[in-house]
Amino acid sequence: MHGLMMDFPLTVPAMVRRAATLFPERRVVSHRPDRTLDRRTYADVIDRAQRLAVALRDLGVTRGDRVATLSWTHHRHLEAYLAVPSMGAVLHTLNLRLHPDDLSYIIKDAGDRAILVDESLLPLLNQVRAQVEIPHVIVLASGSGAASTGMDYETLLSAANPDRAIDVALDENDAAAMCYTSGTTGRPKGVVYSHRALTLHSLALGMRDSLGLGRDDIVLPIVPMFHVNAWGLPYSCAFFGCDQVLPGPHLDATSVAELLAGERVTFTAGVPTVWLALLQELDANPGRYDLSALRALVVGGSAAPLSMIRGLEERHGIHVLHAWGMTEMTPVGTVCNLPRELRDAAPEDRFRYRAKQGTPVPLVEIRARGDRGLVPWDGETLGELEVRGPWVARSYYHGESADSRFCEDGWFKTGDIVRIAADGCVELADRSKDLVKSGGEWISSVALENALMGHASVAEAAVIAVPHPKWDERPLAAVVLKPGQQATADELRALLAQHFAKWWLPDSIVFVDAIPKTSAGKFLKSALRDRFRSAYEEG
Ligand code: AMP
Repeated sequence: MHGLMMDFPLTVPAMVRRAATLFPERRVVSHRPDRTLDRRTYADVIDRAQRLAVALRDLGVTRGDRVATLSWTHHRHLEAYLAVPSMGAVLHTLNLRLHPDDLSYIIKDAGDRAILVDESLLPLLNQVRAQVEIPHVIVLASGSGAASTGMDYETLLSAANPDRAIDVALDENDAAAMCYTSGTTGRPKGVVYSHRALTLHSLALGMRDSLGLGRDDIVLPIVPMFHVNAWGLPYSCAFFGCDQVLPGPHLDATSVAELLAGERVTFTAGVPTVWLALLQELDANPGRYDLSALRALVVGGSAAPLSMIRGLEERHGIHVLHAWGMTEMTPVGTVCNLPRELRDAAPEDRFRYRAKQGTPVPLVEIRARGDRGLVPWDGETLGELEVRGPWVARSYYHGESADSRFCEDGWFKTGDIVRIAADGCVELADRSKDLVKSGGEWISSVALENALMGHASVAEAAVIAVPHPKWDERPLAAVVLKPGQQATADELRALLAQHFAKWWLPDSIVFVDAIPKTSAGKFLKSALRDRFRSAYEEG
């Protein structure tokens, strides 16, 4: 017997409709590159999104086509977030911090039909376009000057008639958006979000035991719109009617503190590097910023240091919520809310708990696997975290479900090594992924090693992640030279600079006699990490 409820598809347009009908007067504020503020309403942003959908359709973009963005966080990017999935196309956000070679690969792999690009990022796009053809380039510029490179966004919007927007009958399992994630080996992989995943994920962010977003919130996502859909916040905010304050390209501590105070922000989210800088700014300028409206500051993407959580809370009255997630998880997986039992505990115990990654949000299920099967939830035994849920990927783009990251029974292997406590609270202890996460961005150890080993004098090279006070982690390369051969660290760094973005280059290249190995002959990186753990302690 079937239930007799309506078959109501969970789609992005349903979220947009709610914003349009219930919250037309809520605000979208964007911090422009020239540091002035653009203020508009949801009604205006949604009208512009409808025009964008019409304009894209007139260019020939149809259902299932990928539309890329290369853009900072501002209202025009938000318009693309709302327009592209609503017309049945797929929003593909590109990470503007990637090397042009990676961007070209990703654009080719996704088969992007059109791209919306910030005027300031045209030099980057031009490097990419030397390697890949993109049929339609639309330039997001407030002034003129776009014409020589592509179509001007504002001109397209003014020419489009929003009344010509059509309702596309979407299936909730249709693709709505996609992002690429760094592969530990090989090239980045595409993660494709369905309408259903985005909608359920948005809904989950409103629950009190997750992020508790609601219509009274004024939200400042510091996490950029090119990082897993700004952790889903643009959609949640539209759904719940939160004001959105969009920071544009200025993510330094002073700009962030001024926006938080000036717009009376209640909720913000970003990686530890941003909040460590904010803490320093607040410590250095007591009383300069009034952050009394701020009810929660979410930190995720890398482990939040306990001292940072405590410093923000005890010295500045800012409540920190530690969360864990992944691109493959849309991204939110766990959030650390203090349980009732610990409310009256000693501060050390409360902060120790809150520095953990937290408990899974409803509909996300977790388990951890050690060498001998699933590990007990005793808060001690280590295992690799596996997850499943309605917003967890079941395959990478191009059907790479056979990838070793997917278990036979469908669960996804996160590559994070954790302990799970009896209450389901996850604590990340290590990562099995051979990657370095610097300031919230991935660096591939394996790619750097391969390039180093391409040098005629290098016998072996291993790249490890070493803790860093500002960037959370930085790469360090341990290099073994061939007998009788010479090479300097500067020479090796110059070699790497030919292939990788500057921020990928190891700050330290150390020469060693041998790289420790496992019995199977693999690099024993844990031994190297132990040896060089303090290399970047002073920053
Ligand atoms: P990404 O796919 O770029 O969002 O990266 C996901 C990975 O970042 C996770 O698998 C973890 O390794 C790491 N990560 C995310 N959040 C946290 C956190 N709160 N603490 C420690 N590591 C984290």
